[in-house]
Amino acid sequence: MESNEYDIIIIGTGAGGGTLAHRLAPSGKKILVLERGGYLPREKDNWSSRAVFLNGKYTAKEPWIDDDDEPFHPGIHYFVGGNTKVYGAALLRMREKDFGELHHKDGISPKWPLSYAEMAPYYTQAEKLYHVHGQRGIDPTDSPTDDPYPFPPLSHDPGIQKLHDKLKAAGHRPFPLPVGLILDESKREASPCVRCNTCDGFPCLVNGKADAQVVCIDPTLKQYPNVTLITHAFVEKLETSPSGKEISKVVVKRNGKVEFFKAKIVVMSCGAINSAALLLRSANQQHPNGLANSSDVVGRFYMCHNNSALLAVSTEKSSAPFQKTLAINDFYFGADDWKFPLGHIQMLGKSDGYMLKSDAPPFAPRLILDEVAKHSLDFWLTTEDLPDPSNRVLLAPGGNVQLLYKKNNQESHHHLIKKLKQMLRKAGYHNFYLSQAIPLGGTAHQNGTVRFGDDPKTSALDRNCKAHDLDNLYVVDGSFFVSSSSVNPSLTIIANALRVGDHLLTKL
Ligand SMILES: Cc1cc2nc3c(=O)[nH]c(=O)nc-3n(C[C@H](O)[C@H](O)[C@H](O)COP(=O)(O)OP(=O)(O)OC[C@H]3O[C@@H](n4cnc5c(N)ncnc54)[C@H](O)[C@@H]3O)c2cc1C
Repeated sequence: MESNEYDIIIIGTGAGGGTLAHRLAPSGKKILVLERGGYLPREKDNWSSRAVFLNGKYTAKEPWIDDDDEPFHPGIHYFVGGNTKVYGAALLRMREKDFGELHHKDGISPKWPLSYAEMAPYYTQAEKLYHVHGQRGIDPTDSPTDDPYPFPPLSHDPGIQKLHDKLKAAGHRPFPLPVGLILDESKREASPCVRCNTCDGFPCLVNGKADAQVVCIDPTLKQYPNVTLITHAFVEKLETSPSGKEISKVVVKRNGKVEFFKAKIVVMSCGAINSAALLLRSANQQHPNGLANSSDVVGRFYMCHNNSALLAVSTEKSSAPFQKTLAINDFYFGADDWKFPLGHIQMLGKSDGYMLKSDAPPFAPRLILDEVAKHSLDFWLTTEDLPDPSNRVLLAPGGNVQLLYKKNNQESHHHLIKKLKQMLRKAGYHNFYLSQAIPLGGTAHQNGTVRFGDDPKTSALDRNCKAHDLDNLYVVDGSFFVSSSSVNPSLTIIANALRVGDHLLTKL
């Protein structure tokens, strides 16, 4: 093999790519991992809400283009570990019914080509790899499994324990939010995680969060010399062989130079938007609509969830620096007054004045916002958005990503917000509320743009996430989703990468 030839090339080191590298490394095969970013610097600013939220220190600087051809800045992060470097590590399984067809207020959430039962063993492995703390059997919508969580549920801070007790007394079923942290609460002093208020949305300065760098890439590189990581390696395009059936070259821009790499198998995991963009950028004579795109689905069906942050502000001071331990799925599939699915509610990381300022009018004084945050309980609400072919990733004339997205299923989302307020009132809270719907730039939960399926006319990937049109191209980031469910996407991306990894091991 020549020095630029590998058995496998993996592009991207986030939830999908990082996990896959970890799964394939013990095979002894020659594996190259290409990552456009570098290592996220460990510095005090990791935990500064001013640097992270107000100044966007770690978000990508490239502008993307919206429906009106206007530029916007996406909340996306290019580092070893991808977006898991800043994620909240809420790691939930999709509900069993999410794998089937579900009828929503605005239409149908389609069936997946796989059942929950096929994914379940990989969810168990994913929970182990990513240190998930949780407890089964409390959430009424819990997906069935005999495997307990690998770690016990996280304890609640006093303010969240109080919320839990009040909700329960009011007849609700709050459950411990499954979270991936490197923490043993019985040996706090020996655990990297310190349960701080700068977790959700922040990089972890002490590597206490189970992100793809910490739990997959770092240990893989340490143990397996057959795996090579090249950082600052932007994959510009993929070239195909004369038959058009294989990827023959991976074209990389690094330090201003163009380099080529080759592999028997190429796996993309650039995130749902960037993977679609890379396939479209790689259009050639045999694949004029972009690679893997004879179905014309690449870039389409972009989903990102209907997400809102809601602050329930009261006269009482918050006593919960680490809020992200509680969730509620009582309305996941509907409510007494709503026959359609409403979605999922979980606690958000603790807000502060700088975080609120990044969304507030410029004249809003930060110190007042700080006081508001000190008196709030912060919630994150997610309702499924439905796959729409017009919601799509395109390439703008200059080559930038263009993201076209019209929200759907909004009535259900607003009803979920109403249900949360009712629930808190019933539990004895008298709050005023500040809520913020997440805008187009909030691409955190991106998925769906290179969907998998059994029919090559309506999907780009087969059930093993191999491109229908190409013999050696796979995709393992969030783009394979056919529907978005109402839970955070990462555990499903991780579980799927492990599943595809097992398939690739049989091919190798
Ligand atoms: C603030 C925030 C909070 C979140 N909280 C949660 C949460 O609590 N729970 C949850 O489940 N999810 C959460 N998410 C979402 C989660 O981070 C993503 O779902 C997950 O990281 C997606 O994994 P991925 O492999 O699809 O892509 P990514 O993790 O985005 O990885 C893609 C990688 O590919 C690299 N790349 C892109 N293009 C190229 C290219 N052309 N060449 C080379 N490399 C390239 C990128 O630099 C990146 O490293 C959150 C996200 C954000 C931003």
